[in-house]
Amino acid sequence: MIIKRVKGKAIKDSRRDLTIEVTLTTNVGKFSASAPNGKSKGKYEAKSYIKSITKDIQALENLSDYFSDEHLEKFSDLRRIEDITKGHVGANTLFAFESAVLKAISKEQKKEIWELINPNAKIFPRFVGNCIGGGLHSASGKKPDFQEFLLIPDFRSPSKNQKINLEIKEKLKELLKRKDQKFSDKKNDENAWMTSLNEKEVFDILSQLEVPFGTDVAASTFYKRKKYHYKNPQLDRRPDEQLMYMKNLAKNYKLFFIEDPFDEEDFESFAKLLKAVPNSLVVGDDLTVTNYKRIEKAIEEKSINALIVKPNQNGSLVEVSRIIELTKKKGIKTIFSHRSGETKESILADLAFGFQANFMKCGITGPERLAKIERLIEIEKKLK
Ligand code: PEP
Ligand code: MG
Repeated sequence: MIIKRVKGKAIKDSRRDLTIEVTLTTNVGKFSASAPNGKSKGKYEAKSYIKSITKDIQALENLSDYFSDEHLEKFSDLRRIEDITKGHVGANTLFAFESAVLKAISKEQKKEIWELINPNAKIFPRFVGNCIGGGLHSASGKKPDFQEFLLIPDFRSPSKNQKINLEIKEKLKELLKRKDQKFSDKKNDENAWMTSLNEKEVFDILSQLEVPFGTDVAASTFYKRKKYHYKNPQLDRRPDEQLMYMKNLAKNYKLFFIEDPFDEEDFESFAKLLKAVPNSLVVGDDLTVTNYKRIEKAIEEKSINALIVKPNQNGSLVEVSRIIELTKKKGIKTIFSHRSGETKESILADLAFGFQANFMKCGITGPERLAKIERLIEIEKKLK
């Protein structure tokens, strides 16, 4: 495949913030891909753009001539793109660009995108579906301090798992109405229900349902001056108290999935929690920010047994592939994840399946979330 021209533009994501879309003109047609946008970003996350979207686009367009010298045929050829763009564009721009390149190669090679990564992929990732939200992703007012409450049905079939998530999400509307005087059908950034209940009240509801569930605490977002500042109800917890609280919640509610229960610097508390609840998934997101070095550290220190992979957080899909190799070697589960500000781009499903991730976290409803869910279901149907 040969790239003839590269164009970029700023488009709006689901939160109406600007993000990047890259379009390639190639010998086999035109291909576009876009990148999502995070809000509860990790401190150590790679920069989305070097200076701005416009400057990144300009840099990419200026490099057009270099790209057209390359013959791109397989996934590992992305390395050549990365050699050219290194230092010129940010992670979001590189991710959108590489995604468009994969689309073009897949067309020329008459293969699905996931087949370029692993033609023998077979096992489907389980959905991790955000059903109720709080934290930075929900409007101000009384809300849970934890950012996400997640349903994780355990069938191997994506269509079956999505059906369950949809049914439970509807049911939750009724259950929330009964318990939450202020409930008004409103949804947050990721299309999850908003509620004025606190995390324990939400867990009480979720534990009535017969489905594994968990949470993204996104604890860094309310950790300041050595304390976790809760608002609902108002109270502060020191790190040792937060550890005790998380252990109790994990045990009492049989939490299957616990993401970012502590501040992004606190590898040690993660390790203590994992030791106490080895059968739960203790998941790094803001802790690890899809960064190879931080992931290596988290694995070495036994801080996590599962890892969020946000491809746009790194930008380089070659690096993502190294990360996956490492997690497989070390027995760490992987969760490919959307961002809170999303586009209708569906490539996350191909990446999750191609890399044989254990889970895909991408919400339950809303056009941007459904694009990815439906793509995974489409792959399932084609393989039957
Ligand atoms: C997350 O924290 O898992 C998340 C998706 O948040 P954001 O995209 O806002 O960084
Ligand atoms: Mg997170």
